[in-house]
Amino acid sequence: MTMKKIAVIGGDGIGPEVVSCAVRLIENLDVDLEFIPAEMGLECYRKTGSFIPDATMDALEQSDACLFGAVTTSLEEKKGPSILFLRKHFDLYANVRPVKRLHPSVGLVDLDVVIVRENTEGMYTGIEHADTDGVTLERRVSEKASRRIVRFALRLCKDEKRRRLTCVHKANAMRMSDGLFRRVFFEEASNSDIESREMLVDAAAAALVLRPKDLDCIVTLNLYGDILSDEAAALVGGLGFGPSGNIGDRYAIFEPSHGSAPDIAGTGTANPIAAILSGAMMLRYLGEYVQASRIEKVVRLGLSRGVKTIDVGGTYKTATFTDALIGMLDEV
Ligand code: ATP
Repeated sequence: MTMKKIAVIGGDGIGPEVVSCAVRLIENLDVDLEFIPAEMGLECYRKTGSFIPDATMDALEQSDACLFGAVTTSLEEKKGPSILFLRKHFDLYANVRPVKRLHPSVGLVDLDVVIVRENTEGMYTGIEHADTDGVTLERRVSEKASRRIVRFALRLCKDEKRRRLTCVHKANAMRMSDGLFRRVFFEEASNSDIESREMLVDAAAAALVLRPKDLDCIVTLNLYGDILSDEAAALVGGLGFGPSGNIGDRYAIFEPSHGSAPDIAGTGTANPIAAILSGAMMLRYLGEYVQASRIEKVVRLGLSRGVKTIDVGGTYKTATFTDALIGMLDEV
């Protein structure tokens, strides 16, 4: 069997710091992967004049998956391609964000939910038209994109033994567009033995806090998924606890759902858990189920022993936190 290749893009701010933790942890597991470092982002632009050099695109094209940190998008400087560009280029239509409370000492709510967010259209088309009095945004909901994201979510429920899929929408206000998404959801769900439910997005925002056990897996449109997953991450300990995968039919990029956090970059205080858990999602994508669950177990073991970073009241720095987890790997 040929060794799988992983493109590693640290990017800007805390991106390189947290991604290197994920790589170090994976290097200490029983898995053979070849890591190919690649550059992208604002730092890369300042250094090379390109936000995403050809060599980076080559590294991505040649690899089986990518582990990604974050890139800073600057309003002042010329804007370059962000992860949105890569999502489009590789048609990574599913944004998967599992949110789970890993220990009672972090977070507020016992959530264990996977949010599957449509990644290619909805509110994020980027097509805006200005007129004399304002701006109109084109919000696209298509049958094709809706059907493939719903099918993806149903498959994920089956694979991960999640019994209930909730379609989150606002079809009472956006009757045609969200109505289309809702219709496609029930059509697809009727061919499956996964229990199907629906919830308005405002009700879902409340349910995450008040009735977390009602939610098992959510499939939803772009903007709703973005907001609900940040809310959910906050409920289980903050942005440092939100891993994610951008998954398509032939490629996938795994990244912490937080950004480059320039305010804490270089201080060594970033929580690397979101990046580390994104690494676990990547291993699962590559079929390395046992090693993936070892990562999750060691993070939980660490938290249970007070191995925590400063954002959740601990004393560990980004690197010492990772060292401590590596030291506990033989226990999981
Ligand atoms: P960007 O513009 O790249 O999205 P941002 O700073 O606007 O960056 P985030 O990076 O998502 O947005 O983070 C918001 C704030 O949350 C940060 O300023 C930082 O203080 C905190 N934060 C984010 N990620 C982490 C982390 N992994 N560990 C600790 N704090 C974090």
